[in-house]
Amino acid sequence: MRVRLGGHPFTVRMSPGLKDHGSCEITHTKTGKVRRVIRLASWNGPRAMLGTAVHEAIHASRPDMTEAEVRALEADVARLLWSLGYRRPKSDCI
Ligand SMILES: [Zn+2]
Repeated sequence: MRVRLGGHPFTVRMSPGLKDHGSCEITHTKTGKVRRVIRLASWNGPRAMLGTAVHEAIHASRPDMTEAEVRALEADVARLLWSLGYRRPKSDCI
């Protein structure tokens, strides 16, 4: 899946082998291209998946924010979305 975050295109992938809940990777290739990939661990439960997706989207949109700032914003936004009923069934595929 492709999404636009912080003005840049990102590829979002479900990754069963991740050790962490997720990652936001921005790499520069030898040919000068920039690859932007968000990986979400497919083993995340629905609540962790929501928080992780929000967390990595914040990193992608606001790379200037510290990890503590990202975690605080993630907690607030994920709590709101969870309270509003947003869920992603674990069986869904991207
Ligand atoms: Zn982080």
